[in-house]
Amino acid sequence: MIQQWVAFSRRDDVRGRVIFLADYDMRLTQELVRGVDVWINTPRRPWEACGTSGMKILVNGGLNLSELDGWWVEAYRPEVGWALGDEQEHGDDPGWDATQALALYDLLEQAIVPTFFDRDEQGIPQAWVERMRASMSSLTPRFSVSRTLRDYYQRYYRPAAEAYRQRAANAGALGREIAAWHHAIEQAWPALRFGDSHVDTQAGGYRFQIWLHLGGLTPEDVRVELYAEASADQPAACHEMHATPGATPDACEFVAEIETTRPAADYTIRVRPWHAAVALPLEEPRVLWQR
Ligand SMILES: *Cc1c(COP(=O)(O)O)cnc(C)c1O
Repeated sequence: MIQQWVAFSRRDDVRGRVIFLADYDMRLTQELVRGVDVWINTPRRPWEACGTSGMKILVNGGLNLSELDGWWVEAYRPEVGWALGDEQEHGDDPGWDATQALALYDLLEQAIVPTFFDRDEQGIPQAWVERMRASMSSLTPRFSVSRTLRDYYQRYYRPAAEAYRQRAANAGALGREIAAWHHAIEQAWPALRFGDSHVDTQAGGYRFQIWLHLGGLTPEDVRVELYAEASADQPAACHEMHATPGATPDACEFVAEIETTRPAADYTIRVRPWHAAVALPLEEPRVLWQR
């Protein structure tokens, strides 16, 4: 592939317009991201994994012109840069490639180059500088290593450290309780099964009712939910069903009253293991769906 690229860059009609940079590394990156005015990124969707390079030019005052793929789908607004594509995948359709190439040249010729060279008496491209400011001020806080690390620290590392401390305290009392709970789930799960169920239509929605044979678990060991997938005009929905009093060691009734305009057949009942101190579904991914 690299040979093909190098051969392409040496073709008579291409030479001088394309440059192939070998051995891309941090040293070379540094020269590029701080020396560029417009970072052009034209992958075919969905092949841009992320687009880190485009983020690196932000702090250096560069502007992005990129396919709406990877990070640029989240970051793009007209004030901060330029976009290519329609957020759809088009495979390797040569017709679409040609359309995209035209769009790229149109943007460069009609918007980007004129804005760059439109200078005031002091030689400053005011509209360009305005975009640089908008891009730097609105995007650098969102697309930076500081934000990434803060997210990991606040959402994952600190809660994980705190969970560890709680489990280890009192000679591992909670840890032991969780291990026993895990064991109980493992033992009981194969015996778990749904019994009779019933749906009543009522004002504004439904009342769902189901019997669940818990195989020795208690209603507190599980969470019973009504789940509906996203449809064309409705987001996914999930409602908790509550145990009614009077569960026997074997069977327990769960009920949920919901308000919705969706058909009752959109909803499926499912059971998941439940423990307040366990990260779910990460640590216990079992789920049983009603058939
Ligand atoms: C930023 C960077 C990348 C990632 O480049 P993308 O254009 O985001 O794929 C790869 N290699 C090096 C050395 C980099 O600095």
